[in-house]
Amino acid sequence: MSSLSKYDAIVIGAGHNGLTAAAYLGGAGLSTLVLERRDIVGGCCVTEEIAPGCRASTTSYIASMLRPEVIRDLGLASHGLRMVPCDPMLQVPFLDGQIVPWWADRDRTVAELRKISVKDAETFVRVDDKLKKLARYLQPFFLEPPPEFELDGLRSWWKLLRVGRRFRGITSSEIAQLTSFMTGSLGDFLDRNYESDKVKTLFLANNVYGKHGGPYDPGTALGLLFHLLSGGEHESQGFYGHVIGGMGAITQAVAAAARKRGVEIRTSAPVARIDVRDGRLRGVVLEDGTEISARTVLSNADPKRTFLGLIDASELPEDFRRAVQGIKMNGPCAKVNLVLAEEPKVRGMPPDTSPAQRSLFTLVPSLEFAERCYDIAKLGEIPEQLWIDCVVASNVDETLAPKGRHTPNMLPMCRERLWRGRYSHRSIWSAFMGLPREIFSTETSRSSSFSSCALYQVGPNTAVPLPGCICVVRAHIPEGA
Ligand SMILES: Cc1cc2nc3c(=O)[nH]c(=O)nc-3n(C[C@H](O)[C@H](O)[C@H](O)COP(=O)(O)OP(=O)(O)OC[C@H]3O[C@@H](n4cnc5c(N)ncnc54)[C@H](O)[C@@H]3O)c2cc1C
Repeated sequence: MSSLSKYDAIVIGAGHNGLTAAAYLGGAGLSTLVLERRDIVGGCCVTEEIAPGCRASTTSYIASMLRPEVIRDLGLASHGLRMVPCDPMLQVPFLDGQIVPWWADRDRTVAELRKISVKDAETFVRVDDKLKKLARYLQPFFLEPPPEFELDGLRSWWKLLRVGRRFRGITSSEIAQLTSFMTGSLGDFLDRNYESDKVKTLFLANNVYGKHGGPYDPGTALGLLFHLLSGGEHESQGFYGHVIGGMGAITQAVAAAARKRGVEIRTSAPVARIDVRDGRLRGVVLEDGTEISARTVLSNADPKRTFLGLIDASELPEDFRRAVQGIKMNGPCAKVNLVLAEEPKVRGMPPDTSPAQRSLFTLVPSLEFAERCYDIAKLGEIPEQLWIDCVVASNVDETLAPKGRHTPNMLPMCRERLWRGRYSHRSIWSAFMGLPREIFSTETSRSSSFSSCALYQVGPNTAVPLPGCICVVRAHIPEGA
């Protein structure tokens, strides 16, 4: 089958980045087509029904760096986007029953830290000011093309000048600090600055997760700056938001904005090949053989899929292909979405705590334990204690589940083998049952709803209900896994 249609631009993939690019291209007057292989748009930023009447953000679950410029330019609020700031932004329950929240209001956080260490509470203010200032230097780069220093002549000087201007006013001590954040480890930074293990653990909970590495790996200190980049409608530094309607509400809003700008979006349209012949781009070929011409093709698929899978090897320089092959894309996480008959409650939570405060907590081992977890994981084993980020989204968003149902989702840091099926279902089961029970209130740990959840989807296309289980859990496999 072939088609004669011709577009100015084709975007492969309707993840939030593909849709946003398409909306801007459409807004600039270019005829633009988005081709998505799944039957829904959103990529990893989606809301899906996981049990009758119960919806969840099946992969990403908290909005952090959605740029205010994009929210404004595309009028996302008018397309239904509503975000509620997470407050606390982070919360760590400890085995002794103490719960340490990190509030949006810094003074309130400092008061919490004072209960642990007065010295660390004072350091927190000093370090927070410093980190926020350094993060502001990096902020502009997120809306600019990366500098290409390998260009020759005047153009390379111009690029250098552009980068230099971003650092106007920076002191030599700040340059040294920025360099050490880019190359140093989170663990070393925390050991240098804080005395309390609990305070260090709080920082750990907000950093490194999602990285296939331990907190003492070089480069992990950068996470401290990364999480202070601004986001949300009001450009707040370190913004974290619950998205009403789940993360899919973001991509639905961006898709609506794109359509309003004339963009055509086709789902169930997997691209088999980017058609480049003799160095000339012609368009794309879909898996069903349809050919669609375009002057420009953008790929929202990951670099390996794009350059090693969609473009003929003879069309790319060999050293470029080797560089793409060398990109490390291993991820250490799985995503588990549950439907429970009872809210999981952590021990030590004051009875008057609001549902919003109970909506997120991180079960995180100490720095040393996290490092050991990675050592175990890199050898292909599953650590006994998992690091789990948990969001009970239904506590802040009643559109997700009917009354009496709760849809917590968990991001356990484990090793890809766990969900690639090389382990038996029993070991996956025991890994999740290996949640540190002492953390939960006796009421919850006794409750059948929490202790008998089922793993439903272990691979991208395999639905595997475990016997004797009453709840639904789906493990989502990220792109490129
Ligand atoms: C488990 C997990 C939890 C996360 N949690 C968070 C979080 O809480 N907050 C946060 O900010 N970020 C989170 N992230 C990261 C975030 O989800 C990703 O950074 C983001 O989704 C990337 O968006 P994207 O548009 O670049 O790509 P993707 O979302 O991966 O979209 C790519 C799209 O391209 C499509 N595609 C691929 N190949 C083809 C083809 N050949 N033809 C047609 N279509 C194709 C795919 O189907 C997909 O829709 C999480 C990631 C994971 C894996």
